[in-house]
Amino acid sequence: MVGRPYGAWVNAPPAPGQRQVKPRQKPHAQRYRRASVSPSGILLVEDDEAIASSLVRVLESQGYGVRRLARGGPALAAADGDVSLVILDLGLPDTDGVDVCRRLRTARPELAILILTARDQELDVVAGLDAGADDYLVKPFRLAELLARVRAHLRRAAVAPGAEEPLRACAVTIDRAARRAWRNGDELVLRPREFELLALLVAEAGRVVTRERIMREIWDTDWLGSTKTLDTHVLALRHKLGPETITTLRGVGYRLETR
Ligand code: CA
Repeated sequence: MVGRPYGAWVNAPPAPGQRQVKPRQKPHAQRYRRASVSPSGILLVEDDEAIASSLVRVLESQGYGVRRLARGGPALAAADGDVSLVILDLGLPDTDGVDVCRRLRTARPELAILILTARDQELDVVAGLDAGADDYLVKPFRLAELLARVRAHLRRAAVAPGAEEPLRACAVTIDRAARRAWRNGDELVLRPREFELLALLVAEAGRVVTRERIMREIWDTDWLGSTKTLDTHVLALRHKLGPETITTLRGVGYRLETR
């Protein structure tokens, strides 16, 4: 490929003409917004040269610092403190991406991990999320969709802890600044997006939160083609909180019960 030296941050000014890459003749190109935090560290682990090189180009054109690996083995060492988000392919030549995900999650609990893969079976989605991924995008994917998710993950990563009153509803307490949550005094172990989703539901406890709003606020997208990721997160929360805590309003959204 257009060899990017491993280990070097590639955030150099784009080569002449590179910016024209942007969303190539796609009609929604003008909707792309520039990243507000820049440069932000993204580690892309992807062995497909065509996908990797075009993603690196597009992400760089948005102002992100991107490091790219074609194998999973070195991912742990590469995901140092400068990396806020890992975009991770599952089908890698040397190791399975799910294992890489698990190891990254253990080593860096605060890291955002977005799995990008051709595997689209529900079990694969669940395996990826169980291994600690925050998000999951199936190939072929839409660039605008990927960039929206990247923005959302990096924005959350950039949120500095602040003095905030804990949110309370039912038996759940949320401390957003510390990113901790408890139910009946027991601390909940939540993945990053589960935490965000629970915080939103608790803030609106007793009221319906629409799927559209959740997708927009938690995943930063209006795209509703598939909300498997959302469904999986709700399932996980129910599992952790008790099945009666979150009510599904079919076709509308979810409500955290206050009883
Ligand atoms: Ca692959």
